[in-house]
Amino acid sequence: MNMAHRVFISHKREDKAYKNYILNNLGVDMIDKSLNERIDSNDEDYVMRKIREDYLSDSTVTIFLIGKYSAENLGEEEQIYIKRELQASLYDGKANSKNGILGIVLPEMYDSIYKGNYSCSECGGNHNHVSINNSTVIAEFSYNYYIPKDKCSWSEDDRYCVLVKWDDFKSKPEKYIDLAFDKRKREISSKTKVRP
Ligand SMILES: [Zn+2]
Repeated sequence: MNMAHRVFISHKREDKAYKNYILNNLGVDMIDKSLNERIDSNDEDYVMRKIREDYLSDSTVTIFLIGKYSAENLGEEEQIYIKRELQASLYDGKANSKNGILGIVLPEMYDSIYKGNYSCSECGGNHNHVSINNSTVIAEFSYNYYIPKDKCSWSEDDRYCVLVKWDDFKSKPEKYIDLAFDKRKREISSKTKVRP
């Protein structure tokens, strides 16, 4: 049996009920905090360290709740807190290394994200159309999910972020948290970007 990994949950206030459900019903070991103030400094390393110390603390996995209000296209100012939380999660500090990232697609987003198969004009094969981009998530997530490369499709090893539907997560939370945790030691971990 694995040790439980401590998680930090990044979410918009509109999705707080899901965070509370995870906290109260799923037995996940989590830090119940959200970034709620601007940390002003021109020293980006300082800002990242500060968020890690004050908010992420000893978490090793960050859960990002993907709802209707977490898209990059809604504007940098609107998303500043979740962007900072993900950046700090991806930041490799001296004292603590980056977190694994687990994106949970909330039910109201299933249709906007999971769009079935399409036939690929490059390789002639079929790929799943998973719409992870600026109209569904912040760039810190989409970049590290579809890490740029030469091929036309992404396998699980080509991604740093792990993605799961809310209903699947709810039935096996530790399984998906473990998958995200394990990514930290995988080769793809060297290709992540803090500020895409
Ligand atoms: Zn293809």
